[in-house]
Amino acid sequence: MSISEDLQRLYQEVVLDHNRYPRNWGELPDATHKAHGLNPLCGDELFLYLKIDGQGRIVDVKFRGQGCAISKASASMLTEAIKGKTVGEAKQLFEKVHRLLTLEIGEEIPPDLTEGLGELSALAGVHAFPSRVKCASLPWHTFISALENREETVSTE
Ligand code: ZN
Repeated sequence: MSISEDLQRLYQEVVLDHNRYPRNWGELPDATHKAHGLNPLCGDELFLYLKIDGQGRIVDVKFRGQGCAISKASASMLTEAIKGKTVGEAKQLFEKVHRLLTLEIGEEIPPDLTEGLGELSALAGVHAFPSRVKCASLPWHTFISALENREETVSTE
């Protein structure tokens, strides 16, 4: 599959929907892990909260912040995708999304990459807007930082 018109259409729909109705929006007072992400290039800012149980499962996740439609939509999709997963499963998802977002322009998308990604495959559509790739990847890097409970802000710069 290449970044086809279908994927482009899916991208538009998914981003619009998640931007308008962000899932898991808010704060998590009993979060076990949290992180702050910043994309100075666009002005996207994100706070991510995770609640991880003793078995290493992400039992709850919330986010809040401000930014462009793609950063908000990507964060919203992230929270839906990782909720209920183990930390290991969620990290595998991060690896896939990261590869998807860092494909070269014009590069074919390997079929195994979008397998099991569902709606997240639509993020590949961001390649039509190269300046937005960091907006899409910010929530994912913030997620990894939250897992490590780093104090400092994650910056895409
Ligand atoms: Zn942005």
